[in-house]
Amino acid sequence: MAAPSRGAIPVPPHKRPRLTVLSGPSGVGKSTVVAHMRTVHPEVWVSVSVTTRKPRPGERAGVQYHFVDDDEFDKLIANGELLEWAEFAGHRYGTPRRPVLEHLDAGEPVLLEIDLQGARQVRQSMPDAQLVFLAPPSWDELVRRLTGRGTESPEVIERRLEAARVELAAESEFDVTLVNTSVEDVARELLALMLHPSA
Ligand code: 5GP
Repeated sequence: MAAPSRGAIPVPPHKRPRLTVLSGPSGVGKSTVVAHMRTVHPEVWVSVSVTTRKPRPGERAGVQYHFVDDDEFDKLIANGELLEWAEFAGHRYGTPRRPVLEHLDAGEPVLLEIDLQGARQVRQSMPDAQLVFLAPPSWDELVRRLTGRGTESPEVIERRLEAARVELAAESEFDVTLVNTSVEDVARELLALMLHPSA
């Protein structure tokens, strides 16, 4: 058998890292889990989404999100540059397509943290993706977390709770559920799933 040329070493299909999608209701702690993953496991490449919402205190452009205006978001959609996108609580969020494909092609595990609508789109366009649902320990705990963040107005919180009710009902569409009892535990379980997919 001819030796593979440099840069074209074939990865056996069963070893090829899959795209992993972390989703779940707003406020459940997805972004905290992802922030922890970035710090403790920098070998996991986490996609940076584009959003039309304004940065929260402490958020930095290009780190948590790429912050864009509506015109720029329209252009990204028109040019087919988003793998998926959704409107959530009055703002748009999307995953830039190219970096995701580049990192998967390079054989790296890739993680997306997106809402339910986005997870459904990824399920359609990349059926091989592993969909992980992050569930709160209880509904009361989710309400407490959403209310306690202190950065949102009552109207915004109510919209997010409404979305959370719908999102909780979608758990059965996912391949795996992780219950967010501790950030460290979830990050460890998520990493294990990324390296040894469940399905
Ligand atoms: P937040 O405004 O709290 O950062 O995010 C609101 C919701 O948007 C969260 O559920 C988050 O997972 C979701 N989200 C963040 N980035 C993306 C994305 O690129 N695509 C989709 N569909 N949802 C996203």
